Amino acid sequence: MRIADLHCDALSKLDRDPKLTWDGPSGSGLDVTAEGLANGNVGLQAFAIWVPAGTAKTPESALRQAELLHEKILSAPGMRLVKSRADVDAVLGPDAAERGALLTLEGADALRGERWALRLLHRLGLRMLGLTWNEANWACDGIMEPRGAGLTKEGRSLVAECEALGILIDVSHISEKGFWETAELARKPFLASHANARAQCPHPRNLTDDQIRALVSANGLIGITFVPFFLQALRPAGIDDVLRHVDHICALGGANHIAFGSDFDGIDTYTLGLAGPGDYSALTDALLARHAEPLVRGWMSGNARRFLTENLK
Ligand SMILES: [Zn+2]
Repeated sequence: MRIADLHCDALSKLDRDPKLTWDGPSGSGLDVTAEGLANGNVGLQAFAIWVPAGTAKTPESALRQAELLHEKILSAPGMRLVKSRADVDAVLGPDAAERGALLTLEGADALRGERWALRLLHRLGLRMLGLTWNEANWACDGIMEPRGAGLTKEGRSLVAECEALGILIDVSHISEKGFWETAELARKPFLASHANARAQCPHPRNLTDDQIRALVSANGLIGITFVPFFLQALRPAGIDDVLRHVDHICALGGANHIAFGSDFDGIDTYTLGLAGPGDYSALTDALLARHAEPLVRGWMSGNARRFLTENLK
């Protein structure tokens, strides 16, 4: 079954360690590799630009990671940059032969409010943007920022400019106030690329039931993530915990809005049985053992395909 994965941090790792190679064997430092995507039958992988603390958050730092996607990943045979509906069909459609990379930005910090930088990243393929990582920036507060403020005036105009350009808004990491302001402001469906259900695991990065319902009613998408402490607070997380979060979102009416956003290469502890994209087959089998095949197809990539097809230009 073809897979879509809405979040990984391989670009950030490649940026920090120039010795890492995309076409190296699995287990050689990168979770997401050409081999891993092939083993897991991943048709679409989102690659986030993420600039860690301690690195200057400048347009240059974001552009350098976008360039790494082009230089190290898109140069591999059979890899396609996903910018349009046609690209989505080419990598997730029934006759898909290629694999696709979707360029995303996790936290608008590095843009520093510079609209030329947003437009240039869009030209390089940027199609999804999260306003914040965990802390506050010029656009909005993140979920770990104690004051819990929402969008700034500049953040509001960033949302509008992204929608005009055809860049999807990602509400993973955003403060709760920021989430609700985005929901009110957004003219187009938006998504949480990597977040789980807070009712199933009480981590602030997870979504409340009201937030999940809002994403569903906005015709959005929720990428269930494999970060172990977003799945399970009490013991090591396993595939059964992923199934619990799937069931919870289904019970809230979200069966047609579930996708996956692994966070591979952004984590250093793993959910048991989910150590890299090659393990998507084990997750697919576990879901098929409990759910009808059309639903599972939707979760593995059908819902993401529909969302991207409806919302990319
Ligand atoms: Zn993240």
